[in-house]
Amino acid sequence: MNGSQPAPATSDHEGVRSPFLPRRARSLFSPAKARPGASSDYDAIIIGAGHNGLIAAALFAQAGAHVLVLEGREKVGGCTDTSTPWPEHPDFHVSTYSYVAGLMPRRIIAALRLYEHGLRIYPLGPYSVPLPDGRCLVLPDDARACRDNIAPFSPRDAEAWVRYEEWLGRLAEVIWPLFLQVPPKLGSSAPSDLLDLAKVAWRLRRLDVRGVADLTRLFTASAAELLDHWFESDAVKAAPAVTSAIGSWAGPYASGTAYVLLHLSMGDPGDGHVGGWGFVRGGMGGLAAACRRAAELAGAEIRTGERVERILVQGERAAGVVTASGAQVHAPIVVSTVHPRATALKLIGRELLPDEYVADIERFKSRGGAVKINLALARLPQLVGVDERPDDRGVCSYHRGSIELGPSPRYVQNAFDQAVSGQPATHPIADATFPSASDDSLMPPGLHCMSIFAQWVPWQWVDEPHRAQVEAFADRVIAHYAQTLPGLADAILARQVIGPYDLETELGLVGGNVYGGELSVDQMFHMRPVPGYADYRTPINGVYNASAGAHGGGGVSGIPGWQAFQQAMRDRKRRHT
Ligand SMILES: Cc1cc2nc3c(=O)[nH]c(=O)nc-3n(C[C@H](O)[C@H](O)[C@H](O)COP(=O)(O)OP(=O)(O)OC[C@H]3O[C@@H](n4cnc5c(N)ncnc54)[C@H](O)[C@@H]3O)c2cc1C
Repeated sequence: MNGSQPAPATSDHEGVRSPFLPRRARSLFSPAKARPGASSDYDAIIIGAGHNGLIAAALFAQAGAHVLVLEGREKVGGCTDTSTPWPEHPDFHVSTYSYVAGLMPRRIIAALRLYEHGLRIYPLGPYSVPLPDGRCLVLPDDARACRDNIAPFSPRDAEAWVRYEEWLGRLAEVIWPLFLQVPPKLGSSAPSDLLDLAKVAWRLRRLDVRGVADLTRLFTASAAELLDHWFESDAVKAAPAVTSAIGSWAGPYASGTAYVLLHLSMGDPGDGHVGGWGFVRGGMGGLAAACRRAAELAGAEIRTGERVERILVQGERAAGVVTASGAQVHAPIVVSTVHPRATALKLIGRELLPDEYVADIERFKSRGGAVKINLALARLPQLVGVDERPDDRGVCSYHRGSIELGPSPRYVQNAFDQAVSGQPATHPIADATFPSASDDSLMPPGLHCMSIFAQWVPWQWVDEPHRAQVEAFADRVIAHYAQTLPGLADAILARQVIGPYDLETELGLVGGNVYGGELSVDQMFHMRPVPGYADYRTPINGVYNASAGAHGGGGVSGIPGWQAFQQAMRDRKRRHT
């Protein structure tokens, strides 16, 4: 849920130098002018120019490396993309895929000076939950206001909500630093691995017996169980129940789904407060653009329209890549931001990997079933059940927040059960925002856009477009929203509907999972993506995994890109000493 503090709209990192590079990093690479005659074309090659790839590229370039980014699409950004999907409306901009930012650590934002490179974030407003009886529960980022708004539904829950948010926030504060740490190799008795384990134990020292119990429950319980423990009213449970399901292939009654509530309560978009979310000015492509600027200013070379077909391996070491055009580019370090399964089985090749690794990567779950719907609107529809006068742009506070479709945990579960049985949900769940209410750069004056993240359709729809069925599902999502936003249907000028097939074929999101691998507890921390390889390394020396399917992903966190760079530097330093 929305955290305690909004993200800043502007930079507070003027003059940050990059004190974050490992000591001696600069001396580990030869200056570019010394390269003629070098055995490799580059010091490092990054596969994929999503935000993780761009962040890794910026860090390598800042460290003095000669670095090349190869991106298969004609543009950078990957899931962090702004597009103009309607040729007849070239000035209508939408966040094509991801739509809110909030998981990127302040440390990464500062190291790349993203605010100086144009990143600007508008804080996300309240969560609103329209209910079948015509009422609407609005949950702003203010404890007292939440208490007042919940009280008509349940006075008991009004008090519990404040305690619940504090409780989740406290656990997030403890767990969040672990996301910035390489997970320990559990089971290994090597001194460096034991040291990593000790570091985790040190982080967790802030938890007492009760805290450990709470955390254990969060990792193992279902979201519904957790919410039943805290609240009595379905209306109050609804927003967290939807949140727990976002990006998941599991309903809120499945064990382990409570964890997603914690995962999405973490992050720090730059103001030091864990849990805030916000809209990026210019859409999510604005974040990719800032990362690209940081990379290019530091000297990284970025080539788009260059798909990598294979990672070159010589004697169990990375040697470079082969592109779709057949060109070979050599480098001793290859960082892949492609889905871990595709990196292993397609780019490296199972014949070069240990059987156990292949078996584990084949087990890595990556099912989705999400549909992204972007709408261009002639005007903002007003929400039934909220007594608020719009400002002169037609904007109410809830337009700056998100509107949840899914009035109870049971409703959310039913949507999932239907998709499991092979049918798209008749009553879908969704998280909808109006980014143009906060950001006037997206649409021409007076017009707006709506971003809807909806679930579920069967994840198996990655096999073919299922175009008519995906469009019919989108019709249903819009019809459900129109019941509480009565002007919605008439306001639609254009729409873009993106289904599981599009996500897999366009971006390489295996199984359509938006996080590059499910966020289930059995594949988090030391298990993500493969036990023994959660340290961003792979069985091939010099090949690193910096995708959202690594620890610290999924989501727009940049942590895998950051950590893969740190590991590559540690390994390089080891070879140089
Ligand atoms: C619809 C949707 C909504 C989401 N909403 C949110 C949200 O609101 N907030 C949030 O935090 N997260 C959200 N996520 C998740 C988040 O966007 C991703 O986890 C994250 O952006 C992934 O970043 P990445 O850099 O690891 O990979 P990607 O962004 O997937 O980038 C990988 C890049 O690699 C390229 N590539 C693939 N194969 C090759 C190849 N062989 N050769 C060269 N290039 C290749 C791809 O074209 C792509 O550009 C959403 C995701 C989706 C799909």
